[in-house]
Parts: sequence; C-alpha cells; structure tokens
Amino acid sequence: MREVFVMGAGVVGMTTAYALACRGHAVTVIDVGTAPAERGASFGNGAQLSYAFTDALASPSLVANLPKYLLGRDPAFRLIPTLSPEFWAWSLRFLANASKASFERNTIEVLKLAMESRRGFTNLSRKVDFDHRSTGKINLYSSPEALRNVEALTRLKNKYGAEQLILTPNEAIEREPALAGYGHAFVGALWSPFDEAGDSWLFCQNLHRLLQSDYGVKFRFDTEINSLKTRNGKLNAIVTNAGEFQCERAVMALGVWSAAIAKSSGIRLPIWPMQGYSLTVPATRMAPSSSITDTARKVVFCKIGDKLRIAGLADIGNRRAHFRPDRFQTLLETARRIFPEAGDYNAELNAWTGLRPMTPNSQPIVGASKVAGLFLNCGHGSLGWTLCMATAARLAAIIN
Ligand SMILES: Cc1cc2nc3c(=O)[nH]c(=O)nc-3n(C[C@H](O)[C@H](O)[C@H](O)COP(=O)(O)OP(=O)(O)OC[C@H]3O[C@@H](n4cnc5c(N)ncnc54)[C@H](O)[C@@H]3O)c2cc1C
Repeated sequence: MREVFVMGAGVVGMTTAYALACRGHAVTVIDVGTAPAERGASFGNGAQLSYAFTDALASPSLVANLPKYLLGRDPAFRLIPTLSPEFWAWSLRFLANASKASFERNTIEVLKLAMESRRGFTNLSRKVDFDHRSTGKINLYSSPEALRNVEALTRLKNKYGAEQLILTPNEAIEREPALAGYGHAFVGALWSPFDEAGDSWLFCQNLHRLLQSDYGVKFRFDTEINSLKTRNGKLNAIVTNAGEFQCERAVMALGVWSAAIAKSSGIRLPIWPMQGYSLTVPATRMAPSSSITDTARKVVFCKIGDKLRIAGLADIGNRRAHFRPDRFQTLLETARRIFPEAGDYNAELNAWTGLRPMTPNSQPIVGASKVAGLFLNCGHGSLGWTLCMATAARLAAIIN
C-alpha cells in the first residue's frame, strides 16, 4: 500500500481518490472548500454525461467564426481581450489544433475516454446515488451548414462505436414532445441514445461518504494549497495554509487552478479558464425528459431530480470568474424562448458561474509529470463530469 495525496475534491479529484483507494492505496484528499465540489466547476455544471458528443472546441468552423466572436456579435461565445502572454501562448496552441485533421483526432480521443467513463459510471452508480438517469441527448442545429458538418462527424464517430442519429425537426419532436413549440427554429437534430445525466455535486457528496466509510480515505478540507516543494527532481511536500504535508506521491486535480500550483514546481500546464453559467429552477411537468442542447446558443437543458438545470455560454480571456447579470439574463431568455413552460422562471433562479479548465486540444492531461511522484489529472475542459471515471482509472493504473 502506498500513500498518495490528491489535490482537489471536484469530480476529478474525488474519482481519482476512489480509483486509487480501490487499488489499495492510502489516500488523503486536500481541498480549500469545506466540502467536496463546493468551489470549482463540479458544483453547478450542465449535468450531462455526454458520452457521444465529444467534439473538440478548436475546429475549422470556430476559426471561420472568429471575426464574429471578436466583434462581440455572438451571444453564446465571447472573447474578452486580455494582454496576458500566457493567454496568447495558449491561443496559438489552440489555433494549431483547429485544422480538420486535428479536430477529428481530438474528438475521437475524447470519445474513447468517454466510452470508458460510461462503463465506470454504470458500475459506481450501484453504490453511489447521484440522480443518474438514461436521458439520451438531443442536439439542435439551426443552420444547414452546421448540420452538414455534423453529418460527416457522426459517420466518423459511428465507426468508433458512438451511436448517434440525425433527426428531422418532426422526428426530434416525436422523441421529445417538449420541443413542439420550438420546431420552427431548428433545421435538424442529433440524437445520442446512450447519453446520460446526473448531478455532479450530489455525486461528490455521496462518494465522499463512501470513501470515508468503506475505504478509509482521509479528507483535509478548509486547507489551501499554496505551492509544491521538490528536491532533486522529486516531489517533497505540499505547502498549505495549515502547514506542510511531506509526501512522495500526489495527484494534481485542481481543475483550472492546477496551472498556478504546478508552476511552483517548474511545470507549465496549458490550461486556461473558459467561464460558463447556470440557473437551476423548479421543473414543471412540461420539462424535457431528454437532455437538450441548443448548439448555436451553447445552452443545455437537463432535468435533475425535480429541478431544471439551464447551463452554458462560453467566455474566454479572463483568468477569474465574474458574476455577470447580463449572461444570466441571456440564459433566462433562451430558456423562456425554447421551453417557456418547462420551469418556474419566477422562482429563485440559483444563479451560478464556474470555470472550465480548457486545454488547447480539448484533451485532459493525464499521467506522470517531469517531477518524480507528481501526477497530473487536470484540464478536462467542457467534459470533466463525463470523463472523470475514465481519467481516474487510467491515472490509477499508471500510479500502480
Ligand atoms: C457552465 C458549465 C457547464 C458544464 N457542463 C458540463 C456538462 O454538462 N458535462 C460535463 O461533462 N462537464 C461539464 N462542465 C465541465 C465540468 O464541470 C468540469 O470539467 C469539471 O467539473 C472539472 O472538474 P475538476 O475536478 O477538474 O475541477 P473543479 O471541479 O474545479 O475542482 C477543483 C477543486 O480544487 C479546489 N482548489 C482549487 N484551488 C485550490 C487550492 N489552492 N488549494 C486547495 N484546493 C483548491 C477547489 O476548491 C475545487 O474543489 C461544465 C462546466 C461549466 C462551467
């Protein structure tokens, strides 16, 4: 049995702790919050276990739309000007991944991870409750060009085992009657029957209980990591506001904050935040039972228990999250337009914002680092909830 520290108690840190504990390691998790998934992106995300929709962000179509984003003409995606050299270095690597060949390669690599993750969730859902549901997912497309691009990619993904089907608006409404009032606004849809949904915050709370009761995992909450100490190229200690933890092995799972802490040990991680937003309102009987994504507006709708989660939008440039009332207004207007009766929009809106830890190629960073004993499991971007079971299992196998 080896002692391993896990830095971060979001979905990635919690599943890493589980995968390591299952292999018999003595695990301690450190997080600045007072409970798991309290401060990071795993609190109020879109709830989608999006196993088939793994499309990388850097793509030829994103590049074609750059002038529109730079001029602020797209309410879904905002580029916020920043002078940070790190952002420009990240952006150059991002653009280098935007060719058709790179886009397809990145999408397929993430698809393989997502399919592994699905098996992991199926097994763990027998032990941990997280409002796990087989919802299927419908992506709506409002332009024929976007639909054509999707048809080609779907054929490729089908070859790798992802089951997806193009639907006409009428077929989409037949599958999801809640879309009836919106049928005129999309030209086609993509149906992913095996996609699922679940509450990542609830997952972390119940996994926390299981890890403590059945696996003896220790938790150090309210503990802020300031830096890492190394000696002769090896990890030596984690320096926190509660003192130093001497250690030989640790996993970096600090989401968007991984880059800053890794830097203290001489490691540069290409992770840049992309801010998103969510609202959570009481669901009505008219709420969709499938997960729905309006791809043009970058907004997802998902029922979690008796609530409707409306999440999305993408703002890139800022290093920190800003609470922006206009972005929540955009989400609310989109919800009222697509599903006017699906939620009680006059109730408390439970507005939340979080940072997606984006890498230039949309692939998470999983493996050993150049510092002996320091392992990386970070940079999960827009799909950390979907991918966490697979990246945790892969990293635990490497540590073993
Ligand atoms: C609006 C939005 C919608 C999304 N929708 C989906 C979706 O539908 N499906 C999907 O798969 N993914 C989705 N994502 C992405 C997903 O939420 C993230 O990829 C995932 O939560 C990242 O998990 P993580 O554990 O790496 O990071 P986090 O959840 O951010 O966890 C990092 C942890 O590190 C801790 N921490 C940070 N700094 C320190 C420090 N110095 N010391 C100690 N602890 C520290 C934090 O407290 C936090 O608990 C969405 C994200 C957003 C923002």
